Amino acid sequence: MNMRTVKSEQIASAVEKLCIQSCLDLPKDVLDALQKAEKKESLDSAKKILNQLIENAKIAKEQKLPICQDTGLAVVFLRIGSQVKIEPQDQTISDAINKGVENGYEKGNLRKSVVAEPLNARKNTQTNTPAVIHTEIIPGDKIHITVMAKGGGCENKSRFKMFLPTDDREKIIDWVTQTAAQAGANACPPFVIGVGIGGDFEQCCLLSKKALLRNLNSQNTDPFYGQMEKDILQKINSLGIGPSGLGGDTTALAVSIETAPCHIASLPVAVNIECHAHRHSSIEI
Ligand code: SF4
Repeated sequence: MNMRTVKSEQIASAVEKLCIQSCLDLPKDVLDALQKAEKKESLDSAKKILNQLIENAKIAKEQKLPICQDTGLAVVFLRIGSQVKIEPQDQTISDAINKGVENGYEKGNLRKSVVAEPLNARKNTQTNTPAVIHTEIIPGDKIHITVMAKGGGCENKSRFKMFLPTDDREKIIDWVTQTAAQAGANACPPFVIGVGIGGDFEQCCLLSKKALLRNLNSQNTDPFYGQMEKDILQKINSLGIGPSGLGGDTTALAVSIETAPCHIASLPVAVNIECHAHRHSSIEI
């Protein structure tokens, strides 16, 4: 098998750029969704807030300033071809990614938000590392990297629940809607809602995060789940929480569901809440 060599500096440099880009430049589909919501919004005060969020994103891009002061935990989705060899061999791809995150957060003047240990000392690592890295091996000789800068306020409101296999879609729709209601203003609406259904305990949570990476204009290709996405979005938007939690029609911009096979006795469901600063960037090397 022909192996392609990729230098670890190349990976570090790509991740550095992705960290900066994701924190400064809101993806087009998110900006479009905010603009669409602003046009449709019936409450003047909510319209004004959406306009401010759009202006904020534009200023961030033009003036190279972070979209939000919380520049997030770097969550990295790595899909690496089985024909890729990293050099030098004494460095792992995780080392390269963490180097890139450290450089990106330093050079981009982005807030470093990672503590080395979660309960006792909670000392800031001062590098925004380690990143959370999810790796998948794929055929071929390319590396796909996506960096998501995940804010703490919205991540804190995410939830997981094991449903009974006999529970129906309405029960899940209600629970996802309740999750958004409980998140309220603290998770900086309008939200993007990632839902994972199936898998096991940990796979389900990962599915809910991966669901956030879908284009906001897309739908699940299975019509059952596509309809469920629409129904959840409609229910969440009828809560009236609105942008910044101050009322309005726009509590969520999109709902994406991703699914996986699961045990016959299980029905795991996870909701990953994302705020209006829905920041992610990708590259293929
Ligand atoms: S939840 Fe999002 S918008 Fe709110 S402070 Fe955190 S990163 Fe910023």
